[in-house]
Amino acid sequence: MSKRDLLERRALQIIMSKGEDGILQSDLWKELEASSRVGSRISLNLGKKNLITRQRELSDGRWTYRVFVNIRSLDIDSFSDIPCVSCDEILKCEKGGEFSPNTCKIMTKWLHTFTHSELDEENISEISKNDDS
Ligand code: SF4
Repeated sequence: MSKRDLLERRALQIIMSKGEDGILQSDLWKELEASSRVGSRISLNLGKKNLITRQRELSDGRWTYRVFVNIRSLDIDSFSDIPCVSCDEILKCEKGGEFSPNTCKIMTKWLHTFTHSELDEENISEISKNDDS
């Protein structure tokens, strides 16, 4: 898998972790530690693959985009080890509930492992530098 593919995968995981609230593109770039130029390319590529939806939004007086993951488009094999599959609390798990993906330490740990296992900060910096030159 290329570094760009890994960066796209990490971006997708961050977007997915935001659930139905989505995430502003600028916040996504910050979490990825990527430049806006690199981030825009990632966003466009994910959009072309129909993995995310971009909605125009006015934020702090400027037009930007909020991005959401298209769950139905995801390759289920990528998420076969998601902890929810074997979790006893899945039927009680909901946003704002006693058990919630937003506060679940198991989910957070899984997302961290999933997003950081193959792409470290050095790789992101390298991609950013190459794209900014
Ligand atoms: S988010 Fe956590 S608590 Fe909820 S179903 Fe998944 S593993 Fe279980």
